[in-house]
Amino acid sequence: LRRREDRVVRLVSPQTREKVDVMDLDTIGPKGTPGEVAHWASYIAGVAWSLERDGFENLPGFDAALVSCVPLGGGLSSSAALECSAAVAIDEVAHLGLAGTAQEPDDAGRARLVTNCVRTENEMAGAPTGGMDQSASLRCREGHALELDCRDGSVTHVPFDLAAEDLALLVIDTKAKHSLDDGQYGARRAACERAAQILGVELLADIAIEDLPQALERLSSADDADELVKRTRHVVTEIDRTRRLVDLLQDGRPLRGEKLAEAGRLMDASHESLRVDYECTCPELDVAVEAARAAGAHGARMTGGGFGGSAIALVDAKTVHDVAAAVAQAYEREGFNPPAFLDAVPAAPAGRLP
Ligand code: ADP
Ligand code: MG
Repeated sequence: LRRREDRVVRLVSPQTREKVDVMDLDTIGPKGTPGEVAHWASYIAGVAWSLERDGFENLPGFDAALVSCVPLGGGLSSSAALECSAAVAIDEVAHLGLAGTAQEPDDAGRARLVTNCVRTENEMAGAPTGGMDQSASLRCREGHALELDCRDGSVTHVPFDLAAEDLALLVIDTKAKHSLDDGQYGARRAACERAAQILGVELLADIAIEDLPQALERLSSADDADELVKRTRHVVTEIDRTRRLVDLLQDGRPLRGEKLAEAGRLMDASHESLRVDYECTCPELDVAVEAARAAGAHGARMTGGGFGGSAIALVDAKTVHDVAAAVAQAYEREGFNPPAFLDAVPAAPAGRLP
């Protein structure tokens, strides 16, 4: 990305095979307004639009070329990757002083960039998502998992140095179509909001795990009791599993033996809860996690928005290829399209490459 001296933004991406997109920061605006920006360009130009509304007036225009290796719409935050890389690049060329560097990140400044990236996604791209993807991309740390409390945006960096323990996270892209637009995401959200209202709390996150049995009892007389009970049970137990994993990872012992087995069991239990109670998996996701576990993964679960997208499996680094081969074989048996694989370790946040 290169700064310009006017207010023009020019974007090009080899993946979309489109000609250069040209727009002007003085005329672009949210989806549904005359200044609406076409699909992927909205995720990038939109960040400048949002930052101007956040008080950084008169930003310079820029020329940017996009090359991404994040699978599009695969549940791996390709949209946040666009927003967050644009955010740190604009921060640098316009001297906003928010991001710091990937090696020495400024967390408070990055939290503000997260807010702007979320606003970009919600208003410019018109996707009603929360801030988890953007927080992960901008506020993570090498060798750590990110614990995010969505109530106040606070984060904790939890030791998760897979490379040090010869472990890896195998990402399985099911290639099954996922879409947040077919109403499922909104339906889950609406059910959680109805349940919270009946229970007299602002968010289901306010229900402590100890109080879950009484909460489910209260929901059992609602018209749509079956749905509300399942969705609530998923949310409250998932937060509890997350906290238990954080406590486990913070205990100072190496991630091996019984500790590793327990981390894997928590991942497996998450997938079960997403499958049975939240009902947002699909056959491709279920087969992927089953095959990965059968091939020796310590734990496996879907990730992202569900209904397709990707699963992750915690594996010994030396077995990555065997586990991937086992999943590919299971897909062939089931007659699914071939999956794709990435092997990942928790890395530094968005920033200029050294
Ligand atoms: P996810 O974030 O889970 O990958 P989304 O539906 O949120 O899925 O975002 C996918 C959208 O992001 C694509 O439809 C496209 O508009 C945009 N996008 C992501 N990566 C690229 C890319 N490399 N080139 C063009 N557009 C991209
Ligand atoms: Mg996304």
